[in-house]
Amino acid sequence: MKYDIVIVGAGVVGASIAYNLIPYDVSVLLLDKNNDVAMGATRANSAIIHAGYDPKPDTLMAKLNVEGNRLCEDLCRNLSVPFRRCGSLVLAFSDAEKELLQELLERGIANGVSDIRTLNQEELREMEPEIGEEAIAALYAPSAGIVNPWELCLAQAEVFVRNGGTFIGDAEVTSITKEEDSSFTIETKAGIFEATNVILACGIQADTVHGLIAKPDFQIVPTRGEYFLLDKSEGGKVNHVIFQCPNKDGKGVLVSPTVHGNMICGPTSEILKDNIEDTSTTSSKLAEIKTKAARSVGNISWRDNVRNFSGIRANSTVDDFIIREIPDCNGIFEAAGIKSPGLASSPAIGPYMVDLMKSSGVVLPAKTGNYDMTRKKIHFRDMSNEERAILVAEDPAYGRIVCRCEGVTEGEIRDALESPIPPRSLDAVKRRAGTGMGRCQGGFCGPRIVEMLLAQKEDTSPLSILQDAEGSNLFYTRETEVDV
Ligand SMILES: Cc1cc2nc3c(=O)[nH]c(=O)nc-3n(C[C@H](O)[C@H](O)[C@H](O)COP(=O)(O)OP(=O)(O)OC[C@H]3O[C@@H](n4cnc5c(N)ncnc54)[C@H](O)[C@@H]3O)c2cc1C
Repeated sequence: MKYDIVIVGAGVVGASIAYNLIPYDVSVLLLDKNNDVAMGATRANSAIIHAGYDPKPDTLMAKLNVEGNRLCEDLCRNLSVPFRRCGSLVLAFSDAEKELLQELLERGIANGVSDIRTLNQEELREMEPEIGEEAIAALYAPSAGIVNPWELCLAQAEVFVRNGGTFIGDAEVTSITKEEDSSFTIETKAGIFEATNVILACGIQADTVHGLIAKPDFQIVPTRGEYFLLDKSEGGKVNHVIFQCPNKDGKGVLVSPTVHGNMICGPTSEILKDNIEDTSTTSSKLAEIKTKAARSVGNISWRDNVRNFSGIRANSTVDDFIIREIPDCNGIFEAAGIKSPGLASSPAIGPYMVDLMKSSGVVLPAKTGNYDMTRKKIHFRDMSNEERAILVAEDPAYGRIVCRCEGVTEGEIRDALESPIPPRSLDAVKRRAGTGMGRCQGGFCGPRIVEMLLAQKEDTSPLSILQDAEGSNLFYTRETEVDV
């Protein structure tokens, strides 16, 4: 139970740090309070790899956003994670907003964003014919992209585990103590661990977990954003990420394609005061999205909504990312206040944290043995018919479609069940294999996946099957045995 490094928080930031520690000869434990990785903001966001014109120049956020964007494409290719560099447009609906576009353009240039430029109304219409009539100009950033955010996290965590790292879920950290020999004792709901160094990457709990070891000099301001996810029938309506001008609440409501071929609209912005983990959605905020998104793209068919969801931003009282060794607490590091563009920046946050640790005197010897930072994953529906035929001939499980909406095969679900961080719930299978993401939201494939999960588990009672987090049991009682 003794590790060189313990990382607390298995969102995309913790996973990026774990992934970037693979080349070093150190024992690393990645902990999370949830039963899977990517259960915080990482699974519920806009999924945009921002170009980097939004953060103020000379901030850590600006630097890591542009660098993260640059790294993301190769990283996703190496990890078989869906990514598309589709470009983004910020719309101006008035002359005042046109001036704001100019400011964003200058910021983008100062931050090193490549090929950024403004478009007049005609150029904009040519690029995006469905754009709302009120839009008079736009800022075009071709380097912006879209990604599968939870898969970016999961892939890095899986490769970390495959290379000898350890992930433990259901391990909420409840105390951190610095011992006389300068090591740390970390008490969690899954046991007690010792570490030479600790890294905190705790999202909206960053200030609370920092408070376990020192008084925090910042506060997290948890800010919920709600979304519509529309069916694939709407997915081709826009080809770029369509933003409106940013305001005091953030980047505003966007309309964007997703890497799965759907359309996403949102988010709203609402500070949470009581239950900071409340990811419910509200009719009033969803109505707000409809009104705002309709200005950007006129003919969105809201009847084709497949899901509403919300995520909670780790906004903070500091207007930048906080990535540092905790003051007066040698040996413990943190990545806090990682609000948007945290996802886009994450490919650069891991390497930044590793460099920071080295410059703080943490000894990270290079591994002498082999390691492999890549992951291969079968995405059956993205293959050509020829590729599919070869695969099915080798392994007939890839020829049996289980999720009809998304075309996910039994072979892909089996791969997910056998992956380095095995799924423990129906939604964990969804995050790995893409099942239940379509129109029926798992209505048809759910029972078959439950059977497959049961076959995998030691405890074979259906009562143990979860929809998602602990406590979300799918079945509550076993009434009678039914003969079929
Ligand atoms: C609505 C919304 C839209 C966004 N859109 C974008 C976007 O388009 N592009 C972009 O770049 N960024 C976007 N972001 C920001 C991005 O999602 C985050 O910056 C990123 O996911 C942060 O990752 P993280 O690992 O820091 O946090 P998280 O993913 O929240 O992970 C933190 C983890 O810490 C764990 N944890 C907390 N406390 C403890 C404890 N005591 N013990 C053990 N584990 C603990 C949590 O369970 C959680 O899994 C958006 C965010 C939101 C909410």
